[in-house]
Amino acid sequence: MVAGGSIGGLAIALFAARAGHDVVLLEADGHAAPARVDEVWHGWKRRGVPQFRQLHGTQALGRSILASRAPDVLDRLRSAGAHDVDLLASQPGIRCGAGMDDLVQFRCRRPVFEWVLRAAVEAESRVGLRRGVEVTGLLVTAGRRPRVTGVATTVGELSADLVVDATGRRSRVAEWCLRSGAAPPTTRTVDTRQVYFTQWFHRETGFTGSDPMLRVELPFATLLVLPVDAGWLSATFFAPAHDRGLRARLHGTDEFLGALRAVPSVPDRIEDARPTGRVQFMGNLANQLRRPSSRLPAGLLPVADAAVCTNPTWGRGGALALAHADALVGLLDVDEEPASLTAALTAWTAENLEPWFRDTVLLDAETNARWAGDRPAPSAERPFSHADAVRTARTDPDLHVAYLRYRNLLDTPAAFWSNPEIVDRVRASAVGRTTGLRRDAQACEPGP
Ligand SMILES: Cc1cc2nc3c(=O)[nH]c(=O)nc-3n(C[C@H](O)[C@H](O)[C@H](O)COP(=O)(O)OP(=O)(O)OC[C@H]3O[C@@H](n4cnc5c(N)ncnc54)[C@H](O)[C@@H]3O)c2cc1C
Repeated sequence: MVAGGSIGGLAIALFAARAGHDVVLLEADGHAAPARVDEVWHGWKRRGVPQFRQLHGTQALGRSILASRAPDVLDRLRSAGAHDVDLLASQPGIRCGAGMDDLVQFRCRRPVFEWVLRAAVEAESRVGLRRGVEVTGLLVTAGRRPRVTGVATTVGELSADLVVDATGRRSRVAEWCLRSGAAPPTTRTVDTRQVYFTQWFHRETGFTGSDPMLRVELPFATLLVLPVDAGWLSATFFAPAHDRGLRARLHGTDEFLGALRAVPSVPDRIEDARPTGRVQFMGNLANQLRRPSSRLPAGLLPVADAAVCTNPTWGRGGALALAHADALVGLLDVDEEPASLTAALTAWTAENLEPWFRDTVLLDAETNARWAGDRPAPSAERPFSHADAVRTARTDPDLHVAYLRYRNLLDTPAAFWSNPEIVDRVRASAVGRTTGLRRDAQACEPGP
């Protein structure tokens, strides 16, 4: 039984069904997916996913998981207008070597991605998708180690061998556990202190995968310009939540467009593109970890944002949700016994996803410090700054590849930040920059 039919829940249903498991997928939103891809933007109500029409990028890890678990989904994405983007295409000089083949992202608007994933799930005979059914609680046996036996829903009680919580960052699993007499997970929340403003553009002639994205670190905000599918492009300012003056200005379309056009190289990128819709705001963004207690009911399996949620400015949640789904279905192949599976998933999450939570908290701290005019002091976990890593990556091809692999979640945070060779290269490059030694270095495209 999977509660929540967004990226995380859909991926689990799809991967599990293809691995031979029967799945019931319960999604609170009742609206059916439109029949055609060109209807998804305006014609699909997704009240349960407030970020549905925000900017969306998927890190290369997400694509590589789809390539191994569901390559047909990548084909369908391409047919629906998504672009494959080779992240090293602009640097043919460094196009050989280990770790470069999977540096490819797919780019499309989030509704397009979810529409393709949903269609793949609906075509699986082992999945029963029930729209408009909200989970309201857990059915749990009493005893020393409680065990989940199903869920309470708006259409009655439904029994299940295993229950996956894929209801997202606002999951009510702690409340469900408490009400059923079980120990809730411990929740750790770190406010990002950041907000989003996105304006969409559309260009009749279309944007393609070869139109590069642009990320500009401004002194007071970060700008991300991202061309996606079917002629759509998003421009987003990530800004400090406390800066009320800036927030008031970015809310207005004219002032937003004025600020956007004032950033060098932006006007060329949005030439002939028509602003579409209003500026969309997104706030209340937190990094959040729900760590299960050892007394979480056996057979309860929290995944994706319901387990580990990271600041979306780094575009990690979708790929991590796919990785979580992949891992859970891999664990199911080994042992379906509920207590063992809950313990194994808890251990996998702690080892593989918690580091991304900590990493995102540290990245946010650096961004917030920069916006405040400060620079965080180096620490054991952060021997150099992210800004120095990006600067070094522009002139050091090997570091560029290492940085892209980390940024795309293909290598762990520790493999990047704690690699002595990387630490030396970034530090040497920072010293070289201050003494002017590297003036002759070739400039590379900045990474995403
Ligand atoms: C502003 C913003 C921008 C983002 N941008 C990106 C990005 O660019 N790239 C990226 O990779 N990630 C991004 N993310 C994160 C990404 O959206 C999530 O990580 C991803 O959707 C996985 O989430 P999920 O499936 O766990 O839950 P969600 O996507 O939150 O979906 C939860 C689902 O559960 C359903 N549901 C909720 N409660 C119940 C219930 N009780 N019963 C039944 N169903 C229920 C909801 O209707 C919904 O369908 C962004 C997030 C935000 C907030």
